[in-house]
Amino acid sequence: MLNFTVGPVQGDEAIMAIGGEQVPYFRTPEFSAVMKESEELMKEFTGVGEAGRTVFITGSGTASMEAAVINLFDEKDKLLIVNGGSFGARFVKIAEIHKIPYEEIKLDIGKALTAEKLAEYDGKGFTGFLVNIHETSTGVKYDTDLIGEFCRKNNIFLVVDAISSFLCDPLNMKEQGVEVMITGSQKALACPPGVSVIVLSEKAVKRIYDHDPGCMYLDLRDALDNGERGQTPFTPAVGILRQINARLKAIKEAGGVNSEIERMKALAADFRNRIEDLPFEIVSESMSNAVTPIHPTTASAYDIFTILKDEYGIWICPNGGDLKDKIFRVGHIGALTIDDNKTLMDAFEDLRRRGII
Ligand SMILES: *Cc1c(COP(=O)(O)O)cnc(C)c1O
Repeated sequence: MLNFTVGPVQGDEAIMAIGGEQVPYFRTPEFSAVMKESEELMKEFTGVGEAGRTVFITGSGTASMEAAVINLFDEKDKLLIVNGGSFGARFVKIAEIHKIPYEEIKLDIGKALTAEKLAEYDGKGFTGFLVNIHETSTGVKYDTDLIGEFCRKNNIFLVVDAISSFLCDPLNMKEQGVEVMITGSQKALACPPGVSVIVLSEKAVKRIYDHDPGCMYLDLRDALDNGERGQTPFTPAVGILRQINARLKAIKEAGGVNSEIERMKALAADFRNRIEDLPFEIVSESMSNAVTPIHPTTASAYDIFTILKDEYGIWICPNGGDLKDKIFRVGHIGALTIDDNKTLMDAFEDLRRRGII
């Protein structure tokens, strides 16, 4: 199968081969060194600065979203949450469950967050801002500079879910005022699912130590303490952490985070050029390099997904709920090439010849 979903995605052969090895015992100086190296590479790739920290959570991206919220905020806070799709709704649900006061900025499908919209929330006493910087469900990338500026001005603590944006779109935590950023193993890191990563600014680390999350497994104080010696409080997904380490090192060797972003940008641009003559509409005002969200104007999006899967050996990414028949997404993350874009394009052309689209 050729995989154009948004995760799990295709991994490089060398990284995938590590997944077939025996899983080593991990309370050793050798494994600690691997973890410390991964922490440093994550700090470098996110621009968090020397005093920043990285924690690795065994649990998918959502575990780290919840961990970030409960370790940084409580009922005395007032959160502003951007809700432009199913991942924004997930942050809302987390705040709801943990009884943290919040207001949401609801955005219509495909719409970007504008300076005018944000200005309505100026000077309203918010203490935290939660945003999925790339709302993967609808393929909308929000403006990090705009949000960072707003948070700086209003003295709001900014948490960015960059789960599908890390390694795809430029990010510099220090320059853009991002205190916490989250990513996951199965998106552009192109490893198996099961691990998520939280990068914390110095300010975020202090805030965590001043706060009781009321949860044992996701207590980031414990994770930070253990991380000082390259360890985790509990048995982590050791195999995936080894794959993440190899992947981060490979990115570094290939020129670093900016080269990886450029590679992704070129793949996305190539795909977007190729589909111009097809009966497809791009539904996002502002896209990430990670994903192209498409409304097929002549056929059901879900039917196209099914036919490509069953008859062409290609996975694109379907949408759920109300958007099931309206939108599918094509991911550009993972070990994909321009030739893979051509293969997908040939399949779309064939669907057109057959009168399916
Ligand atoms: C994939 C993704 C997540 C995490 O989902 P999991 O299934 O828990 O890994 C969260 N936010 C965004 C924006 C995502 O793209």
